[in-house]
Amino acid sequence: MTIYSGPVFEMARQQFQTIADHLDIREDERDRLLYPKRAIAVSCPIHRDDGSMAVFQGYRVQHHLSIGATKGGVRFAPTVDIGEVAALAVWMSWKCALAGLPYGGAKGGVTVNPLELSVRELEALSRRYMQEMIPFVGPHIDIMAPDMGTNEQVMAWFMDTYSVHHGSTVNEIVTGKPVSSGGTVGRREATGRGVVHLAMRAAERLNIRPTNATAVVQGFGNVGSISALELAGRGVRVVGASDHTACLHDPRGLPVADLERHVARTGGLAGFSSEMAADPKEFLTLPCDILVPAATERVIDESVAARLRCRVLAEGANGPTTPAADAVLAERGDEVFVVPDILCNAGGVVVSYFEWVQDLQQLFWEEDEVNRRLMHILDRSFEQVTSRAARDKVSQRTAAMAIGVEKVQRAKQTRGLFP
Ligand code: GLU
Repeated sequence: MTIYSGPVFEMARQQFQTIADHLDIREDERDRLLYPKRAIAVSCPIHRDDGSMAVFQGYRVQHHLSIGATKGGVRFAPTVDIGEVAALAVWMSWKCALAGLPYGGAKGGVTVNPLELSVRELEALSRRYMQEMIPFVGPHIDIMAPDMGTNEQVMAWFMDTYSVHHGSTVNEIVTGKPVSSGGTVGRREATGRGVVHLAMRAAERLNIRPTNATAVVQGFGNVGSISALELAGRGVRVVGASDHTACLHDPRGLPVADLERHVARTGGLAGFSSEMAADPKEFLTLPCDILVPAATERVIDESVAARLRCRVLAEGANGPTTPAADAVLAERGDEVFVVPDILCNAGGVVVSYFEWVQDLQQLFWEEDEVNRRLMHILDRSFEQVTSRAARDKVSQRTAAMAIGVEKVQRAKQTRGLFP
């Protein structure tokens, strides 16, 4: 029996079974690789601005402890549950292993709509969540970071809360902090920058020139907005952009920098333009060269997969494509070049790793060095994944996950099973 249920964990479990079959992993070894080592559930009470009290449910799942500390973001969203957080922790493990980082995967979450909280309430919730997690985290135990619904400011509150408890500044306790609080230059942009760097690698393989290419980006949070800006910066025409408030489409290209300013001012894409409004149901299947889903899980199911009209699918989100959609994409053969999530969006956690290393050493790098090292790791992973997919005649997702799972499996085998 397991406490991990729901469609997102089921998806992570199915993907793992596919990889375990592919790698011929013994049946009796599988549960040890898939099921999380620890799951912590906490209730986080806060005072509301109206004087009432509210309690929010929080989670942290630490998937495996076999390679080093655990690492992963914290999500504030109304849909958060233990199954989703566990699935995201499992994916973090394969992602960190593929990139060669000395971490196991983790993920945290609070079931809350952060847009319904005032800034003071958000600060209270962030601090209380970290306070409740203090017995279970540490710079060499588990290191948090931003994810959907959290940002640099929330990381600063996490770091401050932990540090006040400790009695001195411990900025290596979380990553994705503001640069003024021990964050690293280049972390805020890292995920989107990595997504676009790898989308360009994929385009190169298909002989698509950036200046002739078009892109559609779903999601306009940290990952989506930076991806759109980076694409535009390379001469790609961004013809579609969306968030939870609006979907925009203009075949002549959207003014990405204006969109960014509009979102910074109003909180969403809504109200930018009524002429450019697109049908949300058709958004992901708009014709384009590069599609970047950068919102949430399971947006590409088998029916969307059958209708995708992109050449490159660059997965900025975690888990945007269901296993059934993967089967459809496999049938479509070379039509869509998939850069799977654990490869495509790894830039975030890679630069988080750099931030942690810099904090531990209290020696800070220039942005050039951050980006150079980031691209080196992403290029190495891209080569490993594409050559393994070609060698084993499997999808790029299977290749990427196989590399990750194999590394975790080897670490566990070499260390042995105690007692
Ligand atoms: N939340 C991000 C992810 O899903 C970043 C995690 C991190 O930087 O630790 O990869």
